[in-house]
This record gives sequence, C-alpha cells and structure tokens, in this order.
Amino acid sequence: MSTSSRVENTITIPVEQELNPWQSQAARFDYAAQKLNLDEGLWKILRYPNRELIVHIPVAMDSGRMEVFTGYRVQHSIARGPAKGGIRYSPDVTLDEVRALASWMTWKCAVVNIPFGGAKGGVICDPKKLSMGELERITRRYTSELIEFIGPEKDVPAPDMNTNEQTMAWMMDTYSMHMRQTVTAVVTGKPVNMGGSRGRREATGRGVMIVCDEALKRLNLNREGCRVIIQGFGNVGSNAAQLMCEDGYKIIGIIEINGSLYNRNGIDIDELIEYKKKNNTIVGFPGASPADGAELLTTECDILAPCATENVITSKNVERIKCKILCEGANGPTTAVADEILAEKKVFIIPDILANAGGVTTSYFEWVQDRMGYFWKESVVNERLESIMKESFEDVVRYAEAHNVNNRIAAYMLAIDRVAFTIRQRGIYA
Ligand code: NAD
Repeated sequence: MSTSSRVENTITIPVEQELNPWQSQAARFDYAAQKLNLDEGLWKILRYPNRELIVHIPVAMDSGRMEVFTGYRVQHSIARGPAKGGIRYSPDVTLDEVRALASWMTWKCAVVNIPFGGAKGGVICDPKKLSMGELERITRRYTSELIEFIGPEKDVPAPDMNTNEQTMAWMMDTYSMHMRQTVTAVVTGKPVNMGGSRGRREATGRGVMIVCDEALKRLNLNREGCRVIIQGFGNVGSNAAQLMCEDGYKIIGIIEINGSLYNRNGIDIDELIEYKKKNNTIVGFPGASPADGAELLTTECDILAPCATENVITSKNVERIKCKILCEGANGPTTAVADEILAEKKVFIIPDILANAGGVTTSYFEWVQDRMGYFWKESVVNERLESIMKESFEDVVRYAEAHNVNNRIAAYMLAIDRVAFTIRQRGIYA
C-alpha cells in the first residue's frame, strides 16, 4: 500500500501528514525552489523559520483560579523588512501551524512586494469560553512576554482568527506602557481612532473581490449573476460577501461552523450581517434555506471562496469540488495533495498568498500612516490596495504562463525569488 501521495509529479507527502499545514507549505516551497534552481544554501535558509518563541502564560481567571496558556510567536524571515503576521486564538493552535502561517506571511508580503518579512503568533485557548476580562489578561500577558521580540522595526502583529481591533488595542497599550510612550506602529488592525487605517477592516475581503474580478476577466466570465459560495462569515468572509454582493455577484451559499445557508437566487448579505449582529449566528436566517456545510462545499458554483480555516479541500472531497475558480481567502484551505487533483480538474486557483494579501497590504498602509502621523482618506487606501492587488495578480498569472506552472507554484516561485534576491544582495552575516 502506498504511504505517500504525489504532488506536482515531483514531491511526496506522507499521507498521514496531509493535514499538517507545515508539511503542505514545505512541499510547495520545495517544489518551487527546485523549479527556480535555488542554490542549496538559500534553500536551507528559507525552508525553516528564523526564530521561534514558546511562552507559557499565567492568567487569573474570573473565578479566581489560575490558568496557564501556551502561546507562540514564529518569525520566519526578516530579510525584506520587519516580520509581519497575525495572532490567532484557538484551541487547535499548534507550533507547526504557526510555522506554516509565518512562512506564508513571508511569501505573501513578497508576492505583493511590500517591505516586510513573515511572522505569526497564536495562543492555545477557546475564546468562546473566555470573558472579555480573561481575554484582555491573556492578551496583555502574552504581549508582555513578547516585548523584546516585537516592535515597529522588528515584528508587527495583526488580528487573525478570533482576534480583532480590541485585541490589537490591548496589545498596543501593553507595549506602549512598557516603552513609556504611545507606539501605534507596533501592531496593525487597530481601531481607526487610535492609529488604525481606514479600510483595514474590509481590506482582506476587498482584496478577495479584486482578484475574483481579475480572474473573471481572464476567463471571459461575467460578474453579473456569477454564483459564489463562501465558507466562513467572520472578518474575511463577511466583508468579501458584502462587497461582492454590492458589486453584482450572486452569493448563493454561506458555510459556517455551526450551520450553513443556501439560496439559488442569492442571499441578501446586508440583511444577513444585520441578522448575525442581533443573533450572534447565521443559523435561522429567514432569507435562505438551511444547508449541509460539507455538501455546499461541493455544490456547483462559479467561485468557491474558503475564508475560514485550513484543510478544507483535501484528498477526501477534492474530487467532488465543482467550482470554476477557487479563491483562497483563508490561509492554507487546500492541502498540497488536493492541489494536484484541482489542477487536473482545471480549476483556476487564486492561491492564499495572493488572494488574501489585501489584509497585509492595508496593514502596511497602516504602519506607514502611523510612522508618518498622517492618515489617508478611505478612497486613497482602497485605490492603492486595488492597484497592488491587480498588479500582483498579473505578476502571478504571467509568471505561471512563463514557467508553465500553476498559479500557486508561480506565486511561491515569484516570492522565493524576491526574498532570495534580497538575501544574496545583503549577504550572510557571520
Ligand atoms: P474570523 O475569526 O473573523 O472568522 C472566521 C470565521 O470562520 C468564523 O465565523 C468561524 O465561525 C468560521 N469557521 C471557522 N472554522 C470553520 C469551519 N470549519 N467551517 C465553517 N466555518 C468556520 O477570522 P478571519 O480573520 O476572517 O480569518 C479567516 C481566515 O482568513 C484565516 O485562515 C485567516 O488566517 C485568514 N486571513 C485573515 C486575514 C484578516 O485580515 N483577518 C488576512 C489574511 C488571511
């Protein structure tokens, strides 16, 4: 019996490792590096993260009991600038996941050509079971443990799954208290009134829409009536859905963790957002029928946009995927094994390191505005975002054609090439 699956004809991943995001990242990296003829030394440098920090943080719970949470911060690369990447709160956080997400940040920042390296952080906890006070104490203690690790010129965190503007406000405040001065540029994704950027909240979803627009043009398809299914109705998914709905796309399905919705005539996303605000769930929304999430994922549509989490499209369901375009709003929603089958099915993939780069691009704008102390109008932010996303889409698609590889491998090759070029120029300090 075979114990491994072939990816892109050259890379093997042990079957039992398919769902390990670090292995998925490494398999794509190895293949792209090989295609680039990357020299062995640079290959070794870029394959592994530069620094990894594990912290065990004591936190007083509301009950008076003391609890210890484990947190991570991984800096994959600072070759092109300060490390950059979100902080995730989830019971499922693992060091391998954070490593993969940190590497993806390096590649993502290079794909959109912004002057950052890559990092990621996470705390193993279940925010649904924590009070605001407990979340604040976890965030402040975690930040204080990272105090020498982060900073506007070192490593700049941002929100990710289950963290938000409030989390960033606490992080900024904690860091500032230690520095004895207000340091807004230490994190991005802050509230607008305290150094956040206009347009940041919607930026990842807006980026998703921009690259979908570009893909439709490429495939000669129309936006009007284009059927979209979105997984995840959090920051990325709900903003993508709202903006796409406003611009003529027909959102026929929304998949959430505790229930999903389907309406072949299109769901009114403004109403759904209002409903979720009131009820804290999409379940029971009267403007669509309840649906099975796993079935919706494999329902025929023009665009499938997984905007929730990793390992959604795997060897188990990839054969049944029926979209024309797969736009990865989430990080790592497709395993490396599933990639090969999607390629055979001729699905046009907009890979995560391009599709969801709108968030970090506007985070870059936020960092620039904080350092300037001068804030831009929302229209300026959105125009600049659109220009970078369109240019990056073109770069990736052209690279894919020139090197006869799929869009994902093209995005990796482009990114690795840019990072490797900088390292060669800087040289290795010894
Ligand atoms: P979020 O916490 O705001 O929302 C995630 C949503 O997905 C939640 O509503 C959750 O209930 C849902 N969800 C989780 N697991 C699910 C599952 N198995 N099936 C269906 N729904 C599920 O998080 P977010 O910030 O929107 O991030 C989502 C993804 O996008 C993550 O992979 C994240 O790394 C990536 N991402 C986020 C940003 C950003 O700016 N927030 C930027 C780039 C990439």
